[in-house]
Amino acid sequence: MNPNWRGAVVRHLLLLLAGCGLLGLISGQYAWALVLGLGAYLAWHVKQLLRLHRWLRERQPDEAPPEGYGLWGEIFDNIYHLQRRDQRVRGRLQAVIDRVQESTAALRDAVIMLDSDGNLEWWNLAAETLLGLKTPQDSGQSIANLVRHPRFKEYFDQGKFHDALELPSPINDRKRLQFQITQYGNREHLMLVRDVTRLHQLEQMRKDFVANVSHELRTPLTVISGYLETLLDNVESVNPRWLRALQQMQQQGARMQNLLNDLLLLAKLEATDYPSDNLPVAVDLLLLSIKNDAQALSAAHNHGISLEADASLKLKGSEAELRSAFSNLVFNAVKYSPDDGEIRIRWWRDEQGAHFSVSDSGIGIEAKHLPRLTERFYRVDSSRAANTGGTGLGLAIVKHVLLRHRARLDIASVPGKGSTFTCHFPPQQIAGAQPL
Ligand code: ADP
Repeated sequence: MNPNWRGAVVRHLLLLLAGCGLLGLISGQYAWALVLGLGAYLAWHVKQLLRLHRWLRERQPDEAPPEGYGLWGEIFDNIYHLQRRDQRVRGRLQAVIDRVQESTAALRDAVIMLDSDGNLEWWNLAAETLLGLKTPQDSGQSIANLVRHPRFKEYFDQGKFHDALELPSPINDRKRLQFQITQYGNREHLMLVRDVTRLHQLEQMRKDFVANVSHELRTPLTVISGYLETLLDNVESVNPRWLRALQQMQQQGARMQNLLNDLLLLAKLEATDYPSDNLPVAVDLLLLSIKNDAQALSAAHNHGISLEADASLKLKGSEAELRSAFSNLVFNAVKYSPDDGEIRIRWWRDEQGAHFSVSDSGIGIEAKHLPRLTERFYRVDSSRAANTGGTGLGLAIVKHVLLRHRARLDIASVPGKGSTFTCHFPPQQIAGAQPL
C-alpha cells in the first residue's frame, strides 16, 4: 500500500475513534457509541465492495468505474487502468494474429498445424484448395483420414521428415503435391504443402526424353553392331588395314549398347516408386549366381571372392532389380581391385534389418567423392573408368533400386586399402520376418 494511503487510513480511523469518544462523552454510552461508529464504518466499506462487484459484473465496455472516496476511489481507478492496459495489449496481440492469418491466407502454399497425434488444429486457405480441407468440419480430424495415400501414412508414422514427400493431390489426381513436415514444441507438427505439378511435369519430360532417345537409338545401334559382327566373322575377307578399326568400332558399339540398356533400366526404375513385384527373393541363391558371374569377369585377374549368406533370410522385392543392384556392386569390386585382390560378399540380418555388403581390397575412393558417387555419370577418375568400360550409371541404378526397396546405401572407403558398399534394408522389407 502506498505509505501516504496508510497514513490517511490511520488518520480516518483515529478520527472515527475520536468521534465515537465525543458521542460517548455526550451520551455517557461509550460502548454503544463505539459499536455505532464501527458499524457505520463497516457498512460504508461493504457498500463500496458491492459497488465494485456490480461494476465488475455489469459494466459496459469502456464504462468508467464508480466514483469513489479515498482509498476505494484509488482502488476503482487502479482496476480501471489495469483493465484498459489489458485491453490495449489484447488489441495489439489480436492485430498480430490477424496479420499472421492474413499473410498465411495469402500464401499459395498450404500451412497446416497438427497436434502430437496428427489431428488438425489450424490451416490456411490454400490447404482447402490443395487438400480439400473443410472449415470447421475437419478441425480435430486425423490428417491420415484426409490424406489417405498409404505412402503418406508410412511417412508420417516413421517420423523422419528430413526429406520431403511427393504425392498426387487427394482431390485432383493430375496435381502433384510436395509435403514437408517439421516438428516443433511438444511433438506438434507444422506441415507445408506445395503444388509442384509444373516441376513434376518438367521432370517427367526429362525422363521421357531420355527414355525415348535411348529407345530410338537402340535399333540403329543393333543394326550397326550386327553388320560389324558379320564383317568380323568373315575376317579373312576384310582388308587387314581395317581390322583394328572394325574391332574398336565393335567394342565401342557394345559400350554404347550397355549405356542405352542402363539408361532404359534407370528410366524404368524412375517411372514408379515401388518395385512392381513384392515377392520373397532368395537372396543367397541370387548372390551365388552373381558370385559365379563375378568369378567369370575376374578370370585371369584371379580375385579371391568369398560369399557368406544367411540362406533363411529372404527379402520382399523384385529379383531382377536386386540382381542388377547387387551385381553392379560386386562387379565394381572386381573392376576396381588389382589382380589377386580379396572380395568379400555378405548377407545377414540383425535388429536393424537385413544387410548386404561387398568389401574389396581395391584402389579405394577419396572421402570427398563419396557424397556424389551415386550421381549419374559421376566418376572419380574418368580415364580409369574408360579402361574398365563402365557406363557411369551403375551406382545410380543401385541407389534407385534401394530406394524402391526402402533401403539405403552406405559407402566406406580408404584410398589404397579398399571399399565397403553396404545396403541396409529395414525389418519390414524382410519376407516373413520373425522378430529376432
Ligand atoms: P562405373 O560404370 O564407372 O563403374 P559406377 O556408377 O558403378 O560407374 O561407379 C561410379 C564411380 O565410383 C566409378 O567410376 C569408380 O570411380 C567409383 N567406384 C565404384 N565402385 C568402386 C569400388 N569398389 N572401388 C573403387 N572405386 C569405385
